[in-house]
Amino acid sequence: MKAHDGIYLDGAWRPATGPDTIDIVNPVDEQVIGRVPAGTAEDVDAAVRAARAALPAWAATAPAERAAHLTALRDALAARQDEIAETVTAELGSPPKLSQAVHAALPITVAGSYAELAATYAFEEKVGNSTVLHEPIGVVGAITPWNYPLHQIVAKVAPALAAGCTVVLKPAEDTPLVAQLFAEAVHEAGIPAGVFNLVTGLGPVAGRALAEHPDVDLVSFTGSTAVGRQIGATAGAAVKKVALELGGKSANVILPSADLARAVNVGVANVMSNSGQTCSAWTRMLVHREQYEEAVRIAAAAAAKYGDRIGPVVSAKQQARVRGYIEKGVAEGARLVAGGPESPREQGYFVSPTVFADVTPDMTIAQEEIFGPVLTILSYEDEEDALRIANGTVYGLAGAVWAGDEEEAVAFARRMDTGQVDINGGRFNPLAPFGGYKQSGVGRELGTHGLAEYLQTKSLQF
Ligand code: NAD
Repeated sequence: MKAHDGIYLDGAWRPATGPDTIDIVNPVDEQVIGRVPAGTAEDVDAAVRAARAALPAWAATAPAERAAHLTALRDALAARQDEIAETVTAELGSPPKLSQAVHAALPITVAGSYAELAATYAFEEKVGNSTVLHEPIGVVGAITPWNYPLHQIVAKVAPALAAGCTVVLKPAEDTPLVAQLFAEAVHEAGIPAGVFNLVTGLGPVAGRALAEHPDVDLVSFTGSTAVGRQIGATAGAAVKKVALELGGKSANVILPSADLARAVNVGVANVMSNSGQTCSAWTRMLVHREQYEEAVRIAAAAAAKYGDRIGPVVSAKQQARVRGYIEKGVAEGARLVAGGPESPREQGYFVSPTVFADVTPDMTIAQEEIFGPVLTILSYEDEEDALRIANGTVYGLAGAVWAGDEEEAVAFARRMDTGQVDINGGRFNPLAPFGGYKQSGVGRELGTHGLAEYLQTKSLQF
């Protein structure tokens, strides 16, 4: 695993302007595994200038040519699948199986989907006596988090390139190595110099410089609601579009007619996967009063089986934050039925898979995003009560409904204020729009909806 000591700018690795670096720490053994440059505002400015210079030629390429480049990018990522998985395991701490099956495989699928969409999307359409052109929005500033580090990058960069935009990426400081691997794949794919640029660095320095840069046309951000709010305000003042993928506190609603054991077991697995660091995780399980104790018993047993096999959380800071929430849950009177604030290992940023029962909707652990392996179980009286609890947070990113009958589940899902709902354990679809209602964000990623974020329209009348 190699760490570049430069930034990827205008088609080559070049030295950063400042002397500062960021240590990358393996969350399993707390050892430093590499260092990358902490890019400055000057580095960001150079990258934006390179992206601006490359824009006219890239925007003018035929969609088929962009599709060919994206196919080459998909192939370059696929050729490095093992290296990607090993890198994500080293810097995020995710178990090797998960790194292969999700962290490495999913971005390859998504890159492939945009290779196809670039070739088939209707960049021109007829509306009465008008021809509507869907044109690239321009220079994109992409800012990504660490939880699915390569997926978050590809979910922004691939549609932006498919649209004909050029990009400056500022990846999360905890997981910059896989971002450097991505830049190598872009290079191997023969994507022209300046079309994609990478500046590693700290959020409040390089991230902020990118979000505030006057020559960036669209900021696409995934991360916390607090930072998203700032980025939205900056963009609003400059009258610019933003795409924001923010936090979540999703409900897993188990209706009385559902297969209780299956719904609870899948629900626990959903929350524990990636050590709970999934923005769309169903962290609030809602169970009918009469089935409540049975559900709690199943969930506690399921969580106990995971032990430390789920891997650590990403950093000491994140571990402290999650443990703080667990302590708060106990202090506010929730009943701990699995796990707890003590780490299951002496070394590494591990958190025990934790389940809370007797959680009420107003508790902090039922309202705020914990971003760790912590499940809360709430009880409801009837469907109206379940709906009130499900919709009763500032977030609306995802959710799940379980019922004996699919139509019953769909009827409930239609009333949920959220961007995605899995019906009876429905599978993830990399082409379905992903994004939030309410404070979970603005805009959508993936598939055609994700591509449309990077386009603006021009109408020609005849
Ligand atoms: P974060 O907001 O701290 O960081 C995300 C990115 O923003 C990082 O690259 C960081 O360096 C950068 N950043 C930080 N401060 C900045 C600033 N002032 N200006 C510009 N950029 C800045 O979030 P995080 O802790 O890395 O990620 C976890 C959060 O992300 C969780 O709340 C989670 O729900 C959310 N998330 C949402 C989605 C989604 O699709 N909705 C996906 C993944 C993560």
